[in-house]
Amino acid sequence: MDFWRMPLDAAQQEVTVSKVNILAYRCKGCRYCIEFCPKHVLAEAQEFNEKGYHPPYVTQGADCKDCRYCESVCPEFAIFVTDEGVTGIGTKDVLPRATVRTWRHRREK
Ligand code: SF4
Ligand code: SF4
Repeated sequence: MDFWRMPLDAAQQEVTVSKVNILAYRCKGCRYCIEFCPKHVLAEAQEFNEKGYHPPYVTQGADCKDCRYCESVCPEFAIFVTDEGVTGIGTKDVLPRATVRTWRHRREK
């Protein structure tokens, strides 16, 4: 995840890792979850389910922000999100210490 601003304590923060679960047999192919996911994590599968609809599948699970909006909009209770523990924000996302020191120095002037 790229941030345009980084909290100074970012390295100590944790984020939830989530898993999107789809009960394909319940899906009626309305596409609400696909259209309304803010991170475009879901797409329509080519395969049909038992009812003859195309259920969604997860394209970019790592981009899921655990907002659970897909869960809320699904009229068939066919999609839900589970917590898979926590992880730290990737160290590549955290500003190098030198950058933070420079920024602090400039602020104190
Ligand atoms: S929880 Fe949010 S970000 Fe994740 S798949 Fe559902 S709508 Fe998309
Ligand atoms: S919102 Fe529910 S019923 Fe509609 S496409 Fe998504 S999983 Fe299927």
